[in-house]
Amino acid sequence: MQTTSKHFRAQAREALANETLQASLEGVRRVMPEIRAAAADRCDDFAALCTQAKDVRQHSIDHLDQLLATFEQQVVAAGGQVHWARTGEEATQIIADLCASVDCRSIIKSKSMVSEEIELNSALESAGYEVTETDLGEYIIQLRGEKPSHILAPSLHVSLAEVGEAFNAKHGIERDAPPTDAGEMLLEARAVLREKFLSADVGITGANFLVAETGGVVVVTNEGNADLSMSLPDTHIVVTGIEKVVRSLVDTGVLLRVLARSAIGERLSNYTTFVHGPRQEGEISGPRGFHVVLVDNGRSQLLGTGFRDMLRCIRCSACLNHCPVYTAVGGHAYGSVYSGPMGAILTPAFAGLPGTVHLPGASTLCGRCESICPVGIPLVKLLRRWREASHAQSLPTAGERFGLACWRLVNRWPLVYRLVTKFGVILVRSLSVPGTGQQRWLKRLPSFTALWTQHRDIPAPAGNSFQAQWRRHRAGRKS
Ligand code: SF4
Repeated sequence: MQTTSKHFRAQAREALANETLQASLEGVRRVMPEIRAAAADRCDDFAALCTQAKDVRQHSIDHLDQLLATFEQQVVAAGGQVHWARTGEEATQIIADLCASVDCRSIIKSKSMVSEEIELNSALESAGYEVTETDLGEYIIQLRGEKPSHILAPSLHVSLAEVGEAFNAKHGIERDAPPTDAGEMLLEARAVLREKFLSADVGITGANFLVAETGGVVVVTNEGNADLSMSLPDTHIVVTGIEKVVRSLVDTGVLLRVLARSAIGERLSNYTTFVHGPRQEGEISGPRGFHVVLVDNGRSQLLGTGFRDMLRCIRCSACLNHCPVYTAVGGHAYGSVYSGPMGAILTPAFAGLPGTVHLPGASTLCGRCESICPVGIPLVKLLRRWREASHAQSLPTAGERFGLACWRLVNRWPLVYRLVTKFGVILVRSLSVPGTGQQRWLKRLPSFTALWTQHRDIPAPAGNSFQAQWRRHRAGRKS
């Protein structure tokens, strides 16, 4: 998996200065936690449902080999084929070969994070195929030559005016100026995509879940584009990660109930489709070829590690929407298709820690993500685990390691701690300026601490350390 995560700091600075992105992220901060909380409140016992969902996913991870074998048997029994890919390159090669075997020219796709992970589009385009994304957000970023900035809302960072410019540049329609009306643009995209749907030879979708007991593939969307992608072309290829398998239909029902509530604050998404193999004898529609490409790409290696819990993830995006870091810098800053807290754990696992070491550090460890994760992934513990691994491998810079050594020294010896905090409080307070009432504010800090005040003022500390105040308080009570 290609990433630009080593440039996280520069990318985050750029994101903070991007007004369009900041306006979109403000919407995420304001709306998403509220609608998710309201959806949880409307559910009889959402906490119990999440515990059930966690158990379902844990069962999948604990019985991955058996469930995948059962799933394959059921797909084959229904007339489909299952292909196993150890790496992203193997997966893209399998899919390119499948396309070649049906003399394919054009391909339509619905949104799939695994296909982004393995860079499927560029591999297929290099092999000479025309690939069209049909999820509107994915279509917009495809026109702009970008990666998704959110796992559910890939074009979150794009303004309406920028969408109009992209349509104007790529649709070849004669007009005086780019379109500005959202409804007009929607109709335009629909007209363009309808032609693509009708002429495509192969449709590629992802899968939200794979049902072992039935061999079914479950695809959840809000636009219905996946249903057209899988039913109109003659060949349907599903590309997904091996961890998506689930024991039964009943278990799938539990996951669907937590997925929609966590992702979009609804009881269910607009379209939830269960697909079972190719067109059967006597049926008048549906693909004649049905293939499922199961991608490992580092997932099975996680099984035997302390990051195993991460395989429970159902890609609901709730942790992104609640993360103070993601909602400040957006997805592109992470330099990976997976962003936010889940991305900060998955990206080092898939791409290696040396190039992604900033991501586990891009967290306040406030635990907000963990508290709303519907499948109980201990995100804070896993982020901390990556930080420990990065120190074990001496990946932080010499300056960072020196800073931590000083921190350790100060916190280890009470006398040193008291002296440092005493002089620290005096120094920091001397840098503050008066505000309203008794409050003083820090507007600018020197040197390496300057980043703390680059985008905000912070309240100056009280004149004494907490410990000094506590001692005085206790002395006062005794006298
Ligand atoms: S880590 Fe949890 S909250 Fe985040 S996307 Fe995965 S399931 Fe959703």
